[in-house]
Amino acid sequence: MNAENVVQKILDTTIKITGLPTKNNAIGLHEPSFLNTNSLAYLKDCIDTGWGSSGGEWVNKFEEHLCRYTGASHAVAISNGTDALRLSLHVAGVKKGDEVLVPPISFVATCNAIAHLGASPHFIDVESETLGMSPIALSQRLEKVAIWKGKEIYNKETGKRISAILPVHIFGHPSEICLLKKIAHNWNLPLIEDSAEALGSWRKIQGKFLHCGLFGDLGTLSFNGNKILTTGGGGAIITNNSILAEKAKHISTTAKIPHKWEFDHDQIGWNDRLPNINAALGVAQIEKIEETLSKKRKLAENYKKLFSDIHDVEILDEPKDTVSNFWLITLRITNRDPKDVYSIRNQLLNKGYQIGLLLRPCWKPLHKLKPFLECPRGGLKVAEEQSMRLINLPSSPDLINKKN
Ligand SMILES: *Cc1c(COP(=O)(O)O)cnc(C)c1O
Repeated sequence: MNAENVVQKILDTTIKITGLPTKNNAIGLHEPSFLNTNSLAYLKDCIDTGWGSSGGEWVNKFEEHLCRYTGASHAVAISNGTDALRLSLHVAGVKKGDEVLVPPISFVATCNAIAHLGASPHFIDVESETLGMSPIALSQRLEKVAIWKGKEIYNKETGKRISAILPVHIFGHPSEICLLKKIAHNWNLPLIEDSAEALGSWRKIQGKFLHCGLFGDLGTLSFNGNKILTTGGGGAIITNNSILAEKAKHISTTAKIPHKWEFDHDQIGWNDRLPNINAALGVAQIEKIEETLSKKRKLAENYKKLFSDIHDVEILDEPKDTVSNFWLITLRITNRDPKDVYSIRNQLLNKGYQIGLLLRPCWKPLHKLKPFLECPRGGLKVAEEQSMRLINLPSSPDLINKKN
């Protein structure tokens, strides 16, 4: 089939799932739904009691829900996912001038959070099944550039300290986090998981499923508008480490020493806590998370079935030994020839937008963004190659209710 035919087939097949977009009703990538939740009642409670800002009861309730659902022993609700990352890196010991090992396939926030601390991303390639950081690429890179100074490691090419590993679970598919954890252990590095896209995603370890974000020292979540669960804007840190959780909570609340009236602060803190209003929305949403996730799984099944007989493309499936939340359902163009891939990709995005089907390509790899052009890196062939092949399809859970 030529590119034009493949593109038409992809669009026709997608519309079987989404229904036909209309002039005033484009089909978005991932739309939040507050329908059939207690959102309004919980917001009204914030207004009635006057507790709108951080410090209200809904923040505690939301944190309890997050712990119960993920199995984490601690959750700290934060103003957004980017701040949750920045704070996690900080409490894990990342300092100005350090390097943090990170994959180049992610949303820009992952690298922004590193840069906000005055540290620099150090890019490690991904692997093509999970799209997450490649354990092999990570080991090889560390063998090549890392030298020990006492209990810490330094990059012998730049002279900078390497102080953390920050893998990302992309589109909700759990990365090879068990292998990455072993490497982190061998090099005495803290492991922080960017799980912004992975609420409801799990990987098997020693026969049991563990929630993404709980393999490393700290994991972060995002509750931005298009994520699995939205609080308007928001984020959280989850961890089983009580010392790190306590530290994060303290620094996120201006490092204030609790006292009825005195204002005493024992270090430089941030104002990172999630307001009560947002937490109230979070509780209303997490109460129906199982329903949301089962809709997403069904939607992914439908896409997989319909796309199974189209050549040159595949729907990304959940990796072996994992449960994926299928946050964004992703089409991979498998055609061998990069020229064909490029042509299918561009025509698909163009035609999709023309008819109101808002498809989205993978992010531009982060090492190609202006602020990160000079950052250290290993070979990044897989990331560069894969990122051109990936197109996210409309993934809103409520698409499952459409008659098609
Ligand atoms: C959304 C997202 C973030 C940032 O979360 P915000 O709440 O938008 O600040 C970080 N990393 C990844 C991978 C994301 O998808």
